Amino acid sequence: MGYPAYQPRRLRRLEPFRRLVRETRLAVDQLVMPLFVRPGKNVRVPIPSMPGQFQLSVDQLVKECQDLREHRIPAVLLFGTGQQKDEKATHAFAKDGTMQQAIQAIKAQVPDLVVIGDVCLCAYTSHGHCGLLKVRHVPAKGKNKSAKPAVPQHERDVVIDQEATLDALAKTALSHAQAGADIIAPSDMMDGRVGAIRRVLDQTGHGHVPIMSYTAKFSSNLYAPFREAVDSSPSFGDRKSYQLDIANAEEALREAQLDIEEGADILMVKPALAYLDIIYRIKERFGYPVAAFNVSGEYAMVKAASARGWLIERPTWLEILLSIRRAGADTIITYWAKEAAKFLHER
Ligand SMILES: [Zn+2]
Repeated sequence: MGYPAYQPRRLRRLEPFRRLVRETRLAVDQLVMPLFVRPGKNVRVPIPSMPGQFQLSVDQLVKECQDLREHRIPAVLLFGTGQQKDEKATHAFAKDGTMQQAIQAIKAQVPDLVVIGDVCLCAYTSHGHCGLLKVRHVPAKGKNKSAKPAVPQHERDVVIDQEATLDALAKTALSHAQAGADIIAPSDMMDGRVGAIRRVLDQTGHGHVPIMSYTAKFSSNLYAPFREAVDSSPSFGDRKSYQLDIANAEEALREAQLDIEEGADILMVKPALAYLDIIYRIKERFGYPVAAFNVSGEYAMVKAASARGWLIERPTWLEILLSIRRAGADTIITYWAKEAAKFLHER
């Protein structure tokens, strides 16, 4: 019996061969570092479930950004933490808010680092939801009908106030653009928000600012460490009424279609690793720039296992990041961005 003419192992035999025919590459140019800003001065608070990650005051954040720039990381994605909260999320769009100050400070001191502002309301609402809420009438229990209506405790009792939410999101996006943000990234998953933000930006002289839309943000369990980082867990209910059902791929494609029609420039899939099929399908179908968010839970799992010696950290995250690229993502938002940059520069 003869051997087949084509034997794939021939090109696997030596590392230089493997390098020559490698199909997918990871480059520093593709990486975005997520960072958490909080009020205060000279503050650097470690996030326990995300070893190596911190909540930073603006001065510390600027230092971190200078370091990232030195590692040639092109962009950071900023999140506000430790924020003042109220029912209307007014601090999300405060001109002197921590996020707005942070964006200004980075653009003043590290101007060639791209600053992407995460736009959502959950870190600023007293109830922790991503939208503003309307309370449906909840009748008081018992005989005393004149008593105050009961406080809503269940998702049935509240609905998202779509108009007020879009208005607050658009104001927040505008405040980021006015502070100097290079890209706006809405993560709330409310219908129509990309269009609402696009209109406000266009009408205020910010027509050049792109939107990186969290297009397919799934209602995932892998966000748990992040919620600790930004203190944004909903005080009741969950986010299943606006984030994508984890079982749905066709719906993710419809979301992408809508975001494109509303003016999105980059489509994001979040999380990344458990949703590689979604990255692949969105890229294949639309051919738009696709970003993937390698989320806190993906980071924490590898960190926890490698702390126990069950996984070797660096080759594991390198494999994960490469798989996200292979699925079709152009850009990867990852907490390993700096470590990956160091490694890629060393080679
Ligand atoms: Zn949110």
